[in-house]
Amino acid sequence: MNSVRLHDLSFEQFITEEEVDQAVQRLADEMRVKYEGKRPLFIGVLNGAFYFATELLKRLPIECEITFVKVASYHGTSSTGHVLDLIGLNERIEGRHVVVLEDIVDTGNTVRHILDALAHLRPASISIAALLFKPDAYKHDMPIEHVAIRIPNVFVVGSGLDHDGLGRNLTGIYRITGPTS
Ligand code: 5GP
Repeated sequence: MNSVRLHDLSFEQFITEEEVDQAVQRLADEMRVKYEGKRPLFIGVLNGAFYFATELLKRLPIECEITFVKVASYHGTSSTGHVLDLIGLNERIEGRHVVVLEDIVDTGNTVRHILDALAHLRPASISIAALLFKPDAYKHDMPIEHVAIRIPNVFVVGSGLDHDGLGRNLTGIYRITGPTS
């Protein structure tokens, strides 16, 4: 399937499932070297990161823990900048090597908020891993250490990302082409 309609918008595929798989495998290989023996705690940011977390973790055969948090609701095709508190984090963070898993980093406001909240809990280290990163939209200084795929500043769905609830189960990545006719 190369094009799809979700609600009022049309999308076309521009990254295939195979390309996503290869990019996640490269990332997993890189992270295995860094985190082997450190028993990292992966924190997936719901809802979007469920897909990336699964694809990454099944390729990362190291001792690790995985949990999920919810921070924000996001509607429409641009980032609102409004985020809520971390919901659902019950693990002890102090002294742990923490890796935040994001579906996409756009402006970076969401990961900035999460890193600030986690830093107070005194982890041994914190890093960010993102399936997708939009460098042209990014507004912050902190490094996004682990990025699977860099994309232009366009609205995308698939591989966990939605448009008003639809599209998360599409494999590969689809970019907006316009309103449906
Ligand atoms: P940021 O705070 O980095 O600007 O945006 C982070 C959140 O905005 C992501 O977790 C995601 O929910 C949403 N977002 C940003 N860009 C896109 C996009 O291209 N497609 C979709 N579906 N969501 C996006």
